[in-house]
Amino acid sequence: MIPRTVYEPEHEMFRDSVRRFLEKEAVPFHGDWEKAGQIDRALWKKAGAQGFLCPTVPEAFGGVGADFRYNAIVDEEVARLGLTGIGFGLHSDIVAPYLIHHGSEFLKEKYLPGMVSGDIVTAIAMTEPAAGSDLQGVKTTAVRDGDHYLINGSKTFITNGQLADMVIVVCKTDPAAGANGTSLFVVDAGVEGFSKGQNLEKIGMKAQDTSELFFQDVRVPQENLLGKAGMGFAYLMQELPQERLSVGVNAVANAEAALEWTTEYVREREAFGKPLAKFQNTRFKLAELATEVSVARTFLDRCLDLHIQGQLDVPTAAQVKLWCTDMQCRVLDECLQLHGGYGYMWEYPIARAWADARVQRIYAGTNEIMKEIIARSLV
Ligand SMILES: Cc1cc2nc3c(=O)[nH]c(=O)nc-3n(C[C@H](O)[C@H](O)[C@H](O)COP(=O)(O)OP(=O)(O)OC[C@H]3O[C@@H](n4cnc5c(N)ncnc54)[C@H](O)[C@@H]3O)c2cc1C
Repeated sequence: MIPRTVYEPEHEMFRDSVRRFLEKEAVPFHGDWEKAGQIDRALWKKAGAQGFLCPTVPEAFGGVGADFRYNAIVDEEVARLGLTGIGFGLHSDIVAPYLIHHGSEFLKEKYLPGMVSGDIVTAIAMTEPAAGSDLQGVKTTAVRDGDHYLINGSKTFITNGQLADMVIVVCKTDPAAGANGTSLFVVDAGVEGFSKGQNLEKIGMKAQDTSELFFQDVRVPQENLLGKAGMGFAYLMQELPQERLSVGVNAVANAEAALEWTTEYVREREAFGKPLAKFQNTRFKLAELATEVSVARTFLDRCLDLHIQGQLDVPTAAQVKLWCTDMQCRVLDECLQLHGGYGYMWEYPIARAWADARVQRIYAGTNEIMKEIIARSLV
């Protein structure tokens, strides 16, 4: 086994407390949350009180100003326990950096302390019914109206959509200007004209609320423009690598966990008078999977290390997302197969993980788009 070198002892102490918290506050309830289609909102405040939300937020805005490794630990522990309903990663790893890096003092003061405490749950709305991979095709508009903007349009597939108190919305402020006409707005849930559609029914991640959002003449003060008008696309390109790394972090931790569940299962389950673990096919499969996970872990940790040093570039982040999520799905599929019919039963963690993981190759930019990004850096 290749030892992990990316974490220090203080990170491991943090990991222990995250794990204990999740085992007590989330594991026993996750099945019920799957039926409800969303997690209990109280978990957000409990996690905030423990310092598990938005660790990178600076002290001046209520955070601890830690590095991304603390986010990664929360992601890893959530993934290891198969708690896919919990949208902390989207909130801490994806939404918070937009405010930290591009928000005005006003926006930082208004939102970051609540995001750290769990009083404010957040989402980011890029995707539209007719624009997913092709983000430049976004049709939602924000038109200047005095010292306000008027937002019109709709979004779909938005994680944390039902629970969100604040959403960063990708809009066109100058539709004729292509990518240069894209801007980001901070929109509070509950403002007039902003409505949440249904909680979408998915094939996995059933405890995760994923929604349509509608904007009809939503008046947003100009202070809620994030950064500069027309810079939205540039901000997205800057922040997407961390989102993709975060997906990779989740993928590898989840694949490692699946391998552990499966190793345990094949030791106990018997067929033809002996444990499954005695069949050469089982042993060879496990050997292949362990090797795949190990390769991914080593690559991922190196990228995590580069990211902490501010050196993870866009194509490498795309490689992490591509490689780790493809690996996760391959590993989960083989692990499910080794469970036989029990692997298809929802009560088994491997069944849930298999269904939950499928979307990892789709969101945060599909794996085909990752290949485009990587290819563009080559030719
Ligand atoms: C559970 C879930 C949660 C999500 N959470 C969020 C969220 O919080 N916020 C948000 O904004 N979005 C979210 N999304 C949306 C997600 O990011 C999009 O679904 C994704 O970007 C793909 O867009 P699309 O669904 O429109 O597919 P399309 O863009 O229509 O793609 C369909 C297929 O065509 C392929 N394709 C498209 N363009 C190309 C190309 N140029 N070359 C090769 N192949 C191509 C794609 O790879 C894919 O296989 C979520 C989606 C899901 C399912």
